[in-house]
Amino acid sequence: MLIDSTGRPVTDLRISVTKRCNFSCIYCHDEGLGPVASPRSPHAEEMSPLEVERLVEVAREFEIRSIKFTGGEPLVRADLEEIVARTVRHVADVSLTTNGSMLAKRAEGLRNAGLKRVNVSIDALDPAAFHEIRGGSLTPVLRGIEEALRVGLTPVKLNMVVFRKTVDHIPELIRFVARNDRLRLQLIQFMPELVGPKTDWAVDIDAVKAWLERRADRVLVREMHHRRIYRFGRAEVEVVDPVYNAEFCRNCHRIRVTHQGELKGCLNRNDDLVPTRGLSDSALRAAFRKVVAERVPYYGGYVTNYPARSAATSPLIQLARTDPPEE
Ligand code: SAM
Ligand code: SF4
Repeated sequence: MLIDSTGRPVTDLRISVTKRCNFSCIYCHDEGLGPVASPRSPHAEEMSPLEVERLVEVAREFEIRSIKFTGGEPLVRADLEEIVARTVRHVADVSLTTNGSMLAKRAEGLRNAGLKRVNVSIDALDPAAFHEIRGGSLTPVLRGIEEALRVGLTPVKLNMVVFRKTVDHIPELIRFVARNDRLRLQLIQFMPELVGPKTDWAVDIDAVKAWLERRADRVLVREMHHRRIYRFGRAEVEVVDPVYNAEFCRNCHRIRVTHQGELKGCLNRNDDLVPTRGLSDSALRAAFRKVVAERVPYYGGYVTNYPARSAATSPLIQLARTDPPEE
């Protein structure tokens, strides 16, 4: 097992298979790698299925237990099914984060290749608001979610980035997931640091949590990360709030791979990339050890001087007045 100098074991690997995307979300951080490229841009630098398999094989030797594919939009790759099939030979717990726009046609093939679950990003159920935020259409995404449920890529987690333009849509998303107990809602705190000077988009995530706490029927605490799960009838809602959160970083067990095959120890950093292409087996193992050896918690380790968590609260006034979701 790989354990960093602060005692954090590495158990998860998040692999970006492309930098290309068919959407243009206004907040996109592209896994900390900067702006996404268009689907038709040159992509010779992307890892091949065999290169991904080799990385996963070594990750398995180090007892990495789960793999998540991401991007860019992973489904712009026509060979994602092959990538998944090669991955599950070594690590069984394989999932995918997708914008969902191309999922309906691919869900069954991906399930057959061995994919276990999907996260689908959806920030609003209103088509106009969705389009304004994500630069794409809502309808195919809803179809993708239905199909993922049908073929059993479950639980289907819906990722919603919480910022000024989405905060009022939270109650509607809660009602949506309450319809099916194989749907979950993940509220992801907007990360301003990765996308430049858009800090006035942030909302006070602690106030969102307080609102959930007040309104939920039950609040459970997950062992991992001590994260709270808010139950609204059948709906299950979780908050992922990494910004200015040293506790989140202390509990981070994930390393990453860029679409060009570089190991990356932290979402927020690009000064720790370790190239792996063309390495011998022993050099590849050494690359894993190096990236983990250099890992430190971002907040409270790499960055010690950061603002207090609470920020602007005005958009929440409206949210707090919204009726609780119907069952
Ligand atoms: N294209 C896929 C998608 O949108 O799901 C996978 C890649 S995307 C970079 C992964 C996740 O990061 C998505 O749920 C997206 O909404 C989220 N995300 C992107 N930019 C973000 C930001 N600035 N703050 C918080 N989450 C962000
Ligand atoms: Fe970024 Fe995903 Fe949106 Fe594409 S769909 S722009 S990768 S968040």
